[in-house]
Amino acid sequence: MIHCDKCKTVNPPEQRYCLTCHRDLLPGTSFFVRVLGFIIMLGIAAFAAWVLWKMYQAEDVPDLGCFVSSPIWWGLLAVIMPIAGLVFLFKRTPIHERYLDRAKRHLTLDQQQALADLNEALRLAPEKARAAILKERGKLLDALGQTQQALRDRIAVAEDASAHDAGGDVVSLLGADKDTFVNKMREQDRSLLRSAGAVAIGYCRGCRMPVELNEKSRCPRHPHRKVSDIRLAVPEDTKTIKAEIIENRKREDRKRLISWIIVILAILLLYFTFKYIIMA
Ligand SMILES: [Zn+2]
Ligand SMILES: [Zn+2]
Repeated sequence: MIHCDKCKTVNPPEQRYCLTCHRDLLPGTSFFVRVLGFIIMLGIAAFAAWVLWKMYQAEDVPDLGCFVSSPIWWGLLAVIMPIAGLVFLFKRTPIHERYLDRAKRHLTLDQQQALADLNEALRLAPEKARAAILKERGKLLDALGQTQQALRDRIAVAEDASAHDAGGDVVSLLGADKDTFVNKMREQDRSLLRSAGAVAIGYCRGCRMPVELNEKSRCPRHPHRKVSDIRLAVPEDTKTIKAEIIENRKREDRKRLISWIIVILAILLLYFTFKYIIMA
């Protein structure tokens, strides 16, 4: 059931507008939030401009070798922030965000409605917006006692390619290595999920097939062989994931074979061309 956020009327799930006050039951970002966001972003731009002015007046700015002391960084901030603010002020709220917002509002009002909205948000969301919705749904499924399904969502969030991109960008701004950070976070995610009941599966070079890995992410029969294509899974999905790994490897092998054929053909072509030139 959809609870109207204006008059609190409880509407049937398929209702688009409130039965009592006719309010849109799938509203976009409110006017107040838009204006507030715009003002905050303008404030940041003004601060950046002030810092630039101070840098200009002091003339020789001590360069700490860090992004904070770079006038380029502050200049970018002063230019980009007002544009971002305008976009935020006038942007149409995408439909999947509307469902996500409504789901969050219903987490305490009606959990089944929240779940239905999250499923709809997930169906409509573009690839890069999925992780945030999966995270929300995982929490809700846990609360509903559907632990297997919840774990599946948490695995999907952890295995999302961009899972730690934002954090990685921050550490790289601070001068640390992004890849090291992302790998470390992934390792941490994996051990957390495994203690929650997930199994790790990987392709063992020794067995020549995907196997269930031990707690050190190694093949139990070949603890010293390299393991690749590591994936996490809910125990009942083990078979499917193994099949996926085999399918992926076949595809990779085909690609490798084709690139080898191209390289060999290119070498042959070069060889005969040179031969022809020398003979002529
Ligand atoms: Zn209403
Ligand atoms: Zn093995």
